[in-house]
This record gives sequence, structure tokens and C-alpha cells, in this order.
Amino acid sequence: MSPADPASTWVEVVVAAPAHSGLGDRLTYRCDRPLPAGTLVRVPLGRREVLGIAWGPTPADPTCAPEQVRPVTEVWDALPPLDADWRDLVAFAARYYQRSLGEVALAALPPALRELTSTQLQRRLTRAAPAAAPCADHPTPVPALTPAQADAVSAIEASERPVLLFGATGSGKTEVYLQATARLLARDPQAQALVLVPEINLTPQLEQRFRARFGDAVTTLHSRLTPAQRLQHWLAAHRGQARIVLGTRMAVFASLPRLRLIVVDEEHDPSYKSQEGARYSARDLAVYRAHRGSADGCRVVLGSATPALESWHAAESGRYRRVDMADRMGGADWPRLRLVDLRHQPRGTALAPPLLAAIEARLARGEQALVLLNRRGYAPVIACGDCGWKSGCPHCSAHLVFHKADRSLRCHHCGHAARVPRACPDCGNLDLAPLGRGTEQLEEQLTSALGALRRPDGSPVRIGRLDADTARAAGALERTLDAVHSGAIDVLVGTQMIAKGHDFRRITLVASVNTDGALFASDWRAPERLFTLLMQAAGRAGRDARFVAAQDSTVELWVQTAYPEHPLFAALARHDYAAFAAQQLQERRTAGMPPYSHQALLRAEARQLDAALAWLRHAADAAHDLPGRAHVTLYAPVPMTLTRVAGIERAQLLLESPHRPALQALLAAWMPRLHTLRAHADTRGLARWAIDVDPLSF
Ligand code: ADP
Ligand code: ZN
Ligand code: ZN
Repeated sequence: MSPADPASTWVEVVVAAPAHSGLGDRLTYRCDRPLPAGTLVRVPLGRREVLGIAWGPTPADPTCAPEQVRPVTEVWDALPPLDADWRDLVAFAARYYQRSLGEVALAALPPALRELTSTQLQRRLTRAAPAAAPCADHPTPVPALTPAQADAVSAIEASERPVLLFGATGSGKTEVYLQATARLLARDPQAQALVLVPEINLTPQLEQRFRARFGDAVTTLHSRLTPAQRLQHWLAAHRGQARIVLGTRMAVFASLPRLRLIVVDEEHDPSYKSQEGARYSARDLAVYRAHRGSADGCRVVLGSATPALESWHAAESGRYRRVDMADRMGGADWPRLRLVDLRHQPRGTALAPPLLAAIEARLARGEQALVLLNRRGYAPVIACGDCGWKSGCPHCSAHLVFHKADRSLRCHHCGHAARVPRACPDCGNLDLAPLGRGTEQLEEQLTSALGALRRPDGSPVRIGRLDADTARAAGALERTLDAVHSGAIDVLVGTQMIAKGHDFRRITLVASVNTDGALFASDWRAPERLFTLLMQAAGRAGRDARFVAAQDSTVELWVQTAYPEHPLFAALARHDYAAFAAQQLQERRTAGMPPYSHQALLRAEARQLDAALAWLRHAADAAHDLPGRAHVTLYAPVPMTLTRVAGIERAQLLLESPHRPALQALLAAWMPRLHTLRAHADTRGLARWAIDVDPLSF
């Protein structure tokens, strides 16, 4: 093809150019033939060559000389084009979360795809496994559904609205997902299902259950895969070979040409919201994706024992269809709540005597206990009793956490690490003391309190710990979980990691030892998070009714608090999520908070806090005449609660509106102005800024 070949057509190609590059992300190239939209291509970009997606033909611009338009270098015909539903999904995500289309679209593809040449691709495709047949002969027996489960499956199949499966922990939700998927695959020999989970490594059982049922028809997409695996799995989904994709939030962008069912398990989990790049919510995009696919019969189910208040509200208002499964499958009664009033305990009590006695009694009977403390390390700070010095991070507005195992002080925000000083750096006092308690210290205290106990078989009791520190080594997480399952660990101490969907069978007591911080946190979502955490943690106990009955035991949730009369505990005692949700939603309605309003955060980071704040003020000024402005409240820029991280000062500006379209219109019109706002004298040192639509954390 010569540069001026009149026969060549012009094609619009989407490339990964961020909006602020000024380049645009839809570029025009020439090709010797028309390309179907969604075709993957390689194109020259500056002096590089990059992967792009043909987005459609574009009319030749008569003012532009053909030789100025560069030709497409490679056309990846061997791959089916990304279909219209996929292109629509990434375009929507880019619009809604205020990023460039190219950024979102290319980031949604496996990174290894960008590095391939067409020859390498060809080789991969011929090597790829042949189409996997769905398993009809099941290696595992399939249980008959209970009436409640059968109703749930029918509702998922019938409802064009998203189904909110409100099912207690252990009520059989996973079995519902499995059988809804099985029926779909049996009905439609090409259909695909997408199953989203919060963190795949924390719920290995779910993957095992899907594999046991569907074998090789299952593939996975998550960040623990190697780049080559991720590419291979992505290709299997894209080419329709994988019938079920099980993955974390990134999997919501998988190319699934025959997608007919989306499951969002534990839909309340905050990890569905991305905290970097396009800050998308995979749950919300799943709902959008299913809605777009509804004409083809695509369905979506959001499952949780403790739905996000946004989802609960959507069900209350009729946008979602709620299906309840209240009873625990073969489970014992819901744990009885035991509150320890810390006001009647000596100051600084780690484990109140009645709680310790209850744990001891259980261990003596061969039962297990979980002890929850949502803070890792030995102590959150060390301090000098004489002058008041505290271990602060030199780079962050945060304390250095004391880790006793290696006698280090570590910042959990920037990673800064230091030795524990011999003496107070300010006054020389040799007597520095840890303040407060983390999981490391709790493990130590439990070991000294319970370590001498014996199990019924005479072997010593074992205490284990699970948090980000102990889970760091490869395979450590799985080993600890296995040790709980096998009974090698009797008491498991840990952060919220231990509360996730594990199906432990012999736990009869769950305790939360330090709850009050979350009760009065400044973050208005804190009560929702705490209630969810305690409900989920409680759900780890009494999962096997036969075991509990044979033990002649009771199942208990212990909470140590100085505020036992807090209404949250009344709802928890009754295991009454609905009452809790109603009360929270009432408060939010009164205060005009989400879901009764919609929010976005503009965040700015700079070397100097003043520069970040000044930039946000300029940004606010630039919004005064924008569409939607009359319906959107712009609050004054403020430093973030954790102002400084790694030497960078952070500030934010909150936007709020009762009308989502008004907020969206304002944001869309605002973005181009923000991109040109950098050069002000008082904003020198601005490092970067970002917008967060529907923020979860402040
Ligand atoms: P959830 O996902 O709500 O926590 P699961 O689907 O894991 O619940 O079910 C809890 C337990 O009950 C699991 O051990 C599961 O194998 C079992 N189970 C689920 N449904 C049935 C059923 N219909 N018959 C027998 N056992 C079931
Ligand atoms: Zn001192
Ligand atoms: Zn730090």
C-alpha cells in the first residue's frame, strides 16, 4: 500500500493515551481494507508501535493529505473482534468514571497481549486448548435444592432486574450460583457465565467448588496469575472456550461474547471498587453489563448476607428484585451475642476473664475459636511516658507501627521501616512503651493465657495468626487456612481476613476484642462496615449443626465494648440486618447521604498542602458556569484525614448531588477544564490529581 493509495480506507483506532496527554485517544490510521469494529491492530504512535482497537470507519478528511495519515502496521484477523457489548461496556466505564476511552479499553486487556507480535499470537492460538466441553458427568454429587434455593434459581432466570440474593452466611447461596450456572450451560451450549469474587485467595473453596462441578470449563482472571496465564485465560474467554470465568473485579471487563449470567458474590465487599486508575466499581459495572445484555437474556445476581446499603436501597425501591434465604443450611442456630462491658473491666483489658473462660471451655471440648482484631502489628505506636514522644512516620501523618517479631517500626502507608530506638529521641528516657494492641500482641497474650491447655486428646493447644504480615510469604495464607480446617490450629487470631467466606466446620466461638474504634470513626460508612464485619465473622461459627449438636455446645459471638447499649449491637443480637439497614438508611436520608445523593471526590496531591488546596480552589472556580452546577454542591477543599503519605500532601473536594445525571454532566464538562488548569503560580508542585466517582473511602 503506497502512502497515497486512494483505495485505502481510514479507520479510527483507540489507543492507551491518557486524557491529559493532549494526544487524544481515538486516532486515525489508514488500512488497505475496512476493519470490523473491535478488531485488534498494531499501530505506530510517535516512535513506538502500540496495540490499538479499531473502533470503526472514519470519513476521510479532505483537508488532510493522505500521506499524513499513517498506516495500520498489523491487523490481528486471527482473533475475533471485541464485540459491541464489550465496546459499549468500556465506553460507559470511561464516561462514567471520567477517564479516557483508550485508557479504560486497553487497561481492560491482558498486559501480555500488548507485547505480542502477530506471529506470536498465531502460535498461542494454535497451541491453545481445544474448546472445553461442559461437564454433563459430575465428579461430585449435586445436592437437590431446597425450596428456597429453587425459588432463588427461578428468580435469577426470570428476572430482568438484577436479583439481590439476601442469604444468611451458609444459607446455600453458592449452591444457587452453581445450579443457576449449570442450568444455563445445559440450556445454551455456548452460553458463558461470569462469577465475581472479592479476593480469590481468601476464598479458595469457591474456586474448588466450581472446578469440582464444571471442570475445565472454568477459567480464572485475577492479579495473582502470571502475565502468560492471564493472557491464556483471557483468550479462552474471548474465544468462547471457557464457559465460566471466575475472577476478581478486573474480570468484569473480560471479553465474553456469549455472556448470559453474572454472579457478584459478597457484593458488599469494598474490594469491588478500584482505588487507582479508573476507580470503577465492578459490582456496578456488572449490573450495567447485564442490563445491556438483557435483550439477549443476560441475568445478574448480587449475593450477600449483608448487602451494601446502596443495593439494599435499590431493592427497597424496586430497581432490584430481592430474594431471601434466611435459614442456614444444615447450620446451627445463629450465634448468640455476648457483650463484654469494658467499663466493668480493668483499664486496658485485652481479653476479659469471662471471654477467656469461654474460649478455654471450648478448647477443652475440641472446638475452635476465632478472635478478630482489625489491626496488625504488635502495637500501633510506641511512646515515651516522660515527654510524650510518639513514633511518627517521617514521611506520613501517621504513626509507625511496632512489629515485635523483628523489633522494627513500620509505616503501614509508605513502607518506611526503622529500628526501635534505644532511648527516646527527644528526652533520652530509656523507658519506651508500646501503646495499644495489634494482632501480634494479641497472639502473644492468647498464647500465654491458653498455651498450657490441652486438647481432649492430650496434645497442646495451638494459636495461629492470619493477617497481611503472616500471609506475605508464598503459600502461607493457604497453609494457615488448611491448618484451621484440619484442626491443627485451635484459635485463629487475625484481621478482617479471617472473617471472609471461609467454610470452617468446628468453630463455635467468634470474638471481636477491640470494636469501639470503628463505632466512632469519622468515616460515615464505618457503622455499615463494622456491622458487616461482625455479621460475616459471626457467620464463621456454627456452620455444622451436627458437630455443634454432637458437642452439646452453643454458638456464640463475643464483643468487647465500652458501649454495649449502642443500637448496632441490638440489631446484631437479633441477627437483624434489615433493621440495621432501615435505621442506617433513615439516617442517611435525613443527612442527604448516599444512596440518597451521589458523590464524587476530586483529589489533589502536592509537595505542599497549600498547593493542593489552591489547585482545588481553582478547580472549583472553573466549575461555576458548568451544566448541572445548580444541582451540585461543591464543598470547600479540605486536607484528607491522612493528609501526608510518602512525603506527598493530599487534599480533596467533595461534590454531591441528589441528581446523578446533573453530577455526571458537570463532571464531563469539567474534565477538559481541569486538564488545562495546571499552570498557576500558587499550585506549583502539584504532583497529580484524580477524580473518584461514587467514592467509598474519604
Ligand atoms: P453460602 O454460599 O450461603 O455461604 P453454601 O452454598 O456454601 O452457602 O452452603 C452452605 C453449606 O451447605 C455448604 O457446605 C453446602 O455444600 C451445603 N449445601 C448448600 N445447598 C445444599 C443443599 N441443597 N443440600 C445439601 N447441602 C447443601
Ligand atoms: Zn521522651
Ligand atoms: Zn509513612
